[in-house]
Amino acid sequence: IKTIGVLTSGGDAPGMNAAIRAVVRKAICNGVKVKGIKKGYQGLLNEEIIDMDARSVSDTIQKGGTILGTARCLEFKTEAGQKKGAEICRRHGIDGLVVIGGDGSYRGAQAMSRLGINTIGLPGTIDLDIACTEYTIGFDTAVNTAMQAIDKVRDTSSSHERCSIIEVMGRNAGYIALWCGVGTGAEDILLPEKYDYDEQQLINNIINNRKKGKTHHLIINAEGIGHSTSMAKRIEAATGVETRATILGYMQRGGSPTCLDRYYASIMGAYAADILCAGSSNRVVAYKHGEFVDYDIEEALAMQKEIPEYHYQVSKALAT
Ligand code: ADP
Repeated sequence: IKTIGVLTSGGDAPGMNAAIRAVVRKAICNGVKVKGIKKGYQGLLNEEIIDMDARSVSDTIQKGGTILGTARCLEFKTEAGQKKGAEICRRHGIDGLVVIGGDGSYRGAQAMSRLGINTIGLPGTIDLDIACTEYTIGFDTAVNTAMQAIDKVRDTSSSHERCSIIEVMGRNAGYIALWCGVGTGAEDILLPEKYDYDEQQLINNIINNRKKGKTHHLIINAEGIGHSTSMAKRIEAATGVETRATILGYMQRGGSPTCLDRYYASIMGAYAADILCAGSSNRVVAYKHGEFVDYDIEEALAMQKEIPEYHYQVSKALAT
């Protein structure tokens, strides 16, 4: 491997810059040149390729978002698009690639590997919805950002003795909702993986809590369930308790990464550069049982993970 490319793909996540920085600097330490590919696979197809050196990533570790930009690219899902991508890599002397993104991005990485460009995936998403890993770049920052916002809503909710429904991100996964719910002491946590759409249970909970003397009732709702505003209207009508919905939205994707995200992203980025320089291809870097490891992409995409049942039961027990 003489020259590697690095790109970010799919949704952005805080900590991606720490990962890019680590890829760039570790590869340079290993005697390999680095090129940055802007705006994901779309930028590759548009040949938005820049030379990078150690200074290109100066003053970026503390920044949210991704300095390379990111995009979704339909053309790259086609064989013609993938072939064009591999040809462009060859023309620019890129014989290795690091792709920072989620499952969709790994499918593109798999295609590039098949076409002879050694490719390594890094897990970049705030949603934690990548089965092969217990950590994804951006999750820690996102849950901390959401937690701080929820604490603030909780203050005003208590003062006014309201019920608050706060919707957090996570796409079809409930990890952000579970962590924020436990971290803020929410009375109810609605996870797409567990929710049975029985609103009567929620209503009974609110009424019982009022009887117990609780002044507020905090419900964390996951994006995958959604409909927080209409849910609030129905709950207010059924309980007589003033109920407001707050949808946190994109604020959860931004901001300066936490130390944990900077640290893990740095280790993972360096790890990706190392295995790529050592000749690996079609692998994804993961965090499993307290260690950084790598899996074949095919194997990683076939894995499944679930919200641990015990964690969910604990979240319920602590909300009584
Ligand atoms: P994420 O990587 O976060 O899962 P997406 O699913 O949007 O996000 O995927 C990001 C990009 O990866 C897509 O815009 C597309 O360019 C590429 N991609 C997604 N699925 C495939 C696929 N099956 N084959 C090749 N490339 C894909």
